[in-house]
Amino acid sequence: MLTLKPNCECCDKDLPGDAAARICSFECTFCPDCADSRLGGVCPNCSGKLEVRPTRVGPALERFPASTERHVRAQPCPGGAS
Ligand SMILES: [Zn+2]
Ligand SMILES: [Zn+2]
Repeated sequence: MLTLKPNCECCDKDLPGDAAARICSFECTFCPDCADSRLGGVCPNCSGKLEVRPTRVGPALERFPASTERHVRAQPCPGGAS
């Protein structure tokens, strides 16, 4: 089962299971803003391609809740100010 991480690893924005998000094959998770404009669609951790994360909604999200373990990169993300 896909681990739905609760935040963007770059900007720490909240990304609930039913929100738009991007992930790589290792489930590194980013918000669409960071993924598309800042990272150019490439994961800064593993250089893999970032794809649209499938959403988990309604009863499925209640039965299989998103992870609450937040991940933020130790190093600032490339490609942006801050
Ligand atoms: Zn972000
Ligand atoms: Zn990655």
